[in-house]
Amino acid sequence: MLRVCALYPDLMNIYADRGNLLVLERRCLWRGIGFELSASGLGEPLDAERHDLYYLGGGQDRDQRLCAADLVERKREALHTAAARGAVVLGVCGGYQLLGHSYTLGEEQIAGVGLLDVRTVRSEGPRLIGNVAIEASLPDGAGPAAQRGTAAARDHVLAGFENHGGRTQLGAEALALGRVLKGHGNDGRSGLEGARRGSIVGTYLHGPLLPKNAWFADWLIARALAIDPGELAPLDDRLERAAHLGARRAAGV
Ligand code: GLN
Repeated sequence: MLRVCALYPDLMNIYADRGNLLVLERRCLWRGIGFELSASGLGEPLDAERHDLYYLGGGQDRDQRLCAADLVERKREALHTAAARGAVVLGVCGGYQLLGHSYTLGEEQIAGVGLLDVRTVRSEGPRLIGNVAIEASLPDGAGPAAQRGTAAARDHVLAGFENHGGRTQLGAEALALGRVLKGHGNDGRSGLEGARRGSIVGTYLHGPLLPKNAWFADWLIARALAIDPGELAPLDDRLERAAHLGARRAAGV
């Protein structure tokens, strides 16, 4: 049984965040794995033990502001506890920014939950928009070897779409999710995209991330269930592969 909790699903949901959740649901149900979706919104508590995967989607600056205060005040501790016991925490775009230490807009600094050692600054420059492809570095499994970081890292391509004004810098403790093949990534300069620490993942790729990268949906499912992705029953992924290749082509990879 995969138990997923969507954080602020009515506010942090631009660019196909609901579709990402649907992909997780379908890929579990097709395999006979139970699936439970809960939500935690503004003012609601968050249970650190009840869920295997916590999802925080993208949002406009305005909605992010609303959620950030609540996230830090009411949900920060539970998220840290959940992550420490190996639950997956996935932040996409605005959600990724809030998993870091801070999101600065001019004079204003919005605090994040500090699960990832990253900081984001809204720059005066143009928004970073377009199709994007990265080579992600993820350990193959969720087993003890992978957790020690000793499993052979396998590189995979993730393809998606990005649209952000914020530029994200990785701190010394942050590991990028991957290397940019095409597109802007974290800041349009570093050649890096996203961040990861164990089962905590942040990325700017959305529009929609998981329908275009079914292999990554499976990686997340496996990680959340603490099994190796190879233990998941194979599915007929002809359509998913076509969607993936289409997204790669759109990015020119
Ligand atoms: N508001 C954030 C930015 O523009 C994130 C946008 C998003 O989630 N697409 O940087």
